[in-house]
Amino acid sequence: MEAKAGLQEWTSQPVGQARPRRAKRREPASEFREILIQAHRENRSYLMEHECKELLEGMGIATTGYLVAGSEDEAVEMANAVGYPVVLKIVSPDVVHKTDAGGVKLNLKHAEDVRRGYQAIVGAFKYQHIVGVSVQKMAAPGVEAIIGVTRDPSFGPVLMFGLGGVFVEVLKDVTFRVLPVTEADIDEMIGEIKGYPLLKGHRGVSVDIPALKALLMKISALVMAFPEIGELDLNPVFLYPEGNVAVDARIFVRDAEDTAPARAAKKQNMRDFFYPKSIAVLGASGVPGKLGYNVFRNLIFHEFKGKIYPINAKNDYVQGVKAYKNILDVPDPVDLAIVLVPAGAAQAAVEDCCKKGVKFLVVETAGFAETGEEGKKVQARIKETIEANGCRVLGPNCSGVINTHHNMVQSIGLIEELGKGNVGMVAQAGVYAAGIITGLRHVLDFGIVATIGNKMDISEADLLEYLGQDDHIDVIAMYMEDMKSGRRFIDVASEVTKKKPLIVLKNGRTEAGKKAVSSHTASLAGNDTINTAAFRQSGAIRARDNEHMFGLMKAFSKQPLPKGDGILVITYTGSLGVAATDVAYLNGMRLGDLEPHLKTRLMELLPDYVKTLNPVDYSFSMDPEQLVKTIEIGVESEDIGGFIVVIQGEILDRFVEPLRAIDTKGKPILSCVACKEFMMDDVIKMEKAGIPVYSTVEMATEVMADMYRFGLRKANQEQ
Ligand code: ADP
Ligand code: MG
Repeated sequence: MEAKAGLQEWTSQPVGQARPRRAKRREPASEFREILIQAHRENRSYLMEHECKELLEGMGIATTGYLVAGSEDEAVEMANAVGYPVVLKIVSPDVVHKTDAGGVKLNLKHAEDVRRGYQAIVGAFKYQHIVGVSVQKMAAPGVEAIIGVTRDPSFGPVLMFGLGGVFVEVLKDVTFRVLPVTEADIDEMIGEIKGYPLLKGHRGVSVDIPALKALLMKISALVMAFPEIGELDLNPVFLYPEGNVAVDARIFVRDAEDTAPARAAKKQNMRDFFYPKSIAVLGASGVPGKLGYNVFRNLIFHEFKGKIYPINAKNDYVQGVKAYKNILDVPDPVDLAIVLVPAGAAQAAVEDCCKKGVKFLVVETAGFAETGEEGKKVQARIKETIEANGCRVLGPNCSGVINTHHNMVQSIGLIEELGKGNVGMVAQAGVYAAGIITGLRHVLDFGIVATIGNKMDISEADLLEYLGQDDHIDVIAMYMEDMKSGRRFIDVASEVTKKKPLIVLKNGRTEAGKKAVSSHTASLAGNDTINTAAFRQSGAIRARDNEHMFGLMKAFSKQPLPKGDGILVITYTGSLGVAATDVAYLNGMRLGDLEPHLKTRLMELLPDYVKTLNPVDYSFSMDPEQLVKTIEIGVESEDIGGFIVVIQGEILDRFVEPLRAIDTKGKPILSCVACKEFMMDDVIKMEKAGIPVYSTVEMATEVMADMYRFGLRKANQEQ
């Protein structure tokens, strides 16, 4: 490919100098500052191609050059110096999309072409403000890519990479990661676009992947170094077998007030928050039906392991426990205070708690920022108080924390008896969490459930960080609607997912209200695209809906991870065997293949009419003994990583004990009982025996594949 020779010339040195000419290229920082000042003076947020390219060259990124001619003669002079063929482009603060407006002349081969091109451009833009005409080397054709950056309200700057040209217009073959990125993130980005085969080598053409990676890392560094960069597009970048070159570039800068660095995350051990030795309840009540009654009742009913102090101005005893008029009257230290007083009295209550030396507060009352301006002000004042006193607050407008391992239930609603389990959950809304805990109580035991409410202080990332460290918790689920400090969430989640599965259900995907955008990257970055990228980047498993999330929680909570990608499907109906097979292959798993001696053993076991060994279809004859023996054969096979078992609902009861007793040597079993909702008693028995039951085999198999992928990622990270 001729690209090679041509490229060398302009990757090694800048093609030219910008106007006004500068004696020597400066450091990118001072150079950028100068460009910014210029833009600011001219009251524009759009940086023109030559300005961007000068900055890029300063970062060691190859471009087609940033020379700008102010006259026809100068254009010819520059073209002669650059070498033909050249490209001319309009340089104007008013022209963002140059081609559309007739501002790009390609492949000009002689001085004459340059003159004609120059005149044509100047003619086409005679009523606009023209800075000049850019004269640049015509880049040899390469694989066209697009690289961009935009800013997401939750996650901050995000990097986009994809194939350019028609691919981006029509196929939108792009991928995102939240900045800054690691080399592993970049590898994933490059590998996950649909056009990856074109990069890797297609009909003898391939591109320089290390150079592409270096370019993406440089863009990441550039944007992290200059928070003023709001949006950036390199469209296109030509990728070659050796090197690459940015052919077009634009940057939109943003206001300085947006650029304050995020406040550093507070470092505080949250252990006492989840395992307090004493709790004061401000607003505890003896009147049934009141919030203060329920919360205090829950602490008593679940036999909270520490001391409890009701704070009540009027009564000496609350629900039989000695009460205090003010938290300051409590003779002993208090680790955590639950604030249930009305919003109007909350500020004083919080101040008292701080005076008492309480380090953790849970404000469950509503009526704060969610209600409007006045509430926002109250919330802001409370925030000042807690920050001044170095204490942390959950809420307001939340339903507190449940920690079954500490017999602690702070919920607003009365909660019945709970088992002690290994599932941790963070939910935005209290009622949602209560509904799930109560509903799933029969089939799933929770360890810690935290509701976050308005997130005045303690965020989902803080809670997640702690759940990652708690030894009782093996699986974490999060239900999110909005996400604050998204970058910290990614950092925390990336750490947590090295050890524990994190399941995220994020709603509000169809969020409208995107502001008008000028960059390509921003228009391709739908809100949910960024969410998906961020969760993938952090290793979280994104649940499609509530049902998928429950399905994942049960499986991760009760079963080990698959030991490989091969599954053994055992069913009483061929149709569900086919369905399981399809879903397995669609999700990166496959049917395992038994070793010859195991095949023989299985064949001896099977009735003659059974033809295939995987899925094993027993038809209506399947009995528990056959199932157990079949699983035992699979347990011995190197190629079987886990089992999908389809059981008839009417006889489910008979399978519970045999399946409970079986030693699968660390291989998971997920079961499907079609129409399970009509035989709940037996389903609950099976769930309590530790075997998750799904009403569709598709869900069971998909969940198995999710577990497999998690295990694979975990193993890769451990290496
Ligand atoms: P815009 O995106 O503002 O319309 P570009 O600078 O991207 O303008 O130019 C439009 C197209 O022209 C590019 O997508 C590319 O295919 C081609 N092009 C522009 N500049 C060059 C160059 N220096 N070498 C080769 N092709 C170029
Ligand atoms: Mg372009």
